[in-house]
Amino acid sequence: MGSTLLQKVWDAHTVRTLPNGQTQLFVGLHLIHEVTSPQAFDMLRARGWPVRFPDRTIATVDHIVPTRDQRRPFMDVMAEDMLSALERNCRQAGVRLFDLASGAQGIVHVIGPELGLTQPGTTIACGDSHTSTHGAFGAVAFGIGTSQVRDVLASQCLALDPLKVRRIRVTGQLPRGVYAKDVILEIIRRLGVNGGVGYAYEYAGSTVDSMSMDERMTICNMSIEGGARAGYVNPDECTFDYLRGRRFAPEGSAFDRACAWWRTMASDEDATYDDEVEIDAGAIRPTVTWGINPGQSVYVDEALPATRDAPEGERASITEALDFMGFREGSPIKGTRIDVAFVGSCTNARLSDLREAARIVRGRSVAPHVTALVVPGSQAVRLAAEREGLDRVFIDAGFDWRAAGCSMCLAMNQDRLEGRQICASSSNRNFKGRQGSPTGRTLLMSPAMVAAAAVAGEVVDVRQVSYGD
Ligand code: SF4
Repeated sequence: MGSTLLQKVWDAHTVRTLPNGQTQLFVGLHLIHEVTSPQAFDMLRARGWPVRFPDRTIATVDHIVPTRDQRRPFMDVMAEDMLSALERNCRQAGVRLFDLASGAQGIVHVIGPELGLTQPGTTIACGDSHTSTHGAFGAVAFGIGTSQVRDVLASQCLALDPLKVRRIRVTGQLPRGVYAKDVILEIIRRLGVNGGVGYAYEYAGSTVDSMSMDERMTICNMSIEGGARAGYVNPDECTFDYLRGRRFAPEGSAFDRACAWWRTMASDEDATYDDEVEIDAGAIRPTVTWGINPGQSVYVDEALPATRDAPEGERASITEALDFMGFREGSPIKGTRIDVAFVGSCTNARLSDLREAARIVRGRSVAPHVTALVVPGSQAVRLAAEREGLDRVFIDAGFDWRAAGCSMCLAMNQDRLEGRQICASSSNRNFKGRQGSPTGRTLLMSPAMVAAAAVAGEVVDVRQVSYGD
């Protein structure tokens, strides 16, 4: 009987089974950033422990960096303190830091792949929930908390419960105007925000097979929003083509040897799964969240759910969400006036995302009442976009063109919603207060939909804006 990629990677990294039944798993790559690492380093220092594998630890700064004025010291004293602490910790521990001067800084889940650090068949951990992004490469990647960051720094290991695997096969051609973001929102809507608890999601099927690495990253990124502990795509030629020539990828014959091994790590044809789900890509339409979790979404041409039609167990959460959002049940999502448009985050701030958003706004203007910003996922994405002139397209349309960082995904810098503002956002979470204002409201959607909303000043169907459907 064949094995899944998860099983193969798990077996290859198992140090031992712990008395409580958990697996002590070796971590091939530990990515750290300024927010969840300072306490972990402090805990290590207090015990006199060194970082066990500094060469398997890579740092960047993303969550708190200002995206407008990055001169040091930062205006925000706490942000300056956090970056200074990261610099000091990395220097003392011998950990490589991709800082603002490096030219390779960016959101941790953007730079890992970009630098070729993220590779198939390995295990990756990072103190950020959306570490599942790296699964797009056939890695098994876990978001971890601060105490686990300490554990990995000290031992390069994690204690984890075994996982089941659900294969989600998405097949068929995506209609135009429908993107990877819509696919993952569809999956979360169907299976629920807790549907993946205890599982890793394996994304497969002809739709996923034909996706670019950027698109696969968007899907894997939001696995955690569906409750899954990890999400991955089996490595294939698309994966290898992406990695070839990247800074930390193997070179020459070592790359060929690596490819040969990476191929063996893909799930076997006759692997068995704990659960299987089929999704018809052709039936998906542009999707928008209307509530306070990523599973509360509708197609852009649908109405918000009516509480009375919902299963009894969901009624309270629908009522809570409608109350918070100030929306009426049964009303259309299309036409919802927005105040802010945000193209950014580790879900959707790669070059292909920016290209698609720019295609929509080219020659158009942001609605007068909308504040619109584009925050590239990394310095490399920003530079590549500028080489193509995308910055001019956005600026001419009335967008702010910012420096790389997490920005308004979670508003740990100055980029925040104010009061009850509504934001059309290409990020991954629409929890209450996620974008800085406790009463601010987030509508998740694809970058193309954000761009269309920025221009219209309200939620619109990108198919109508882009193709006149
Ligand atoms: S962009 Fe958002 S989800 Fe991604 S790493 Fe930054 S804060 Fe986390």
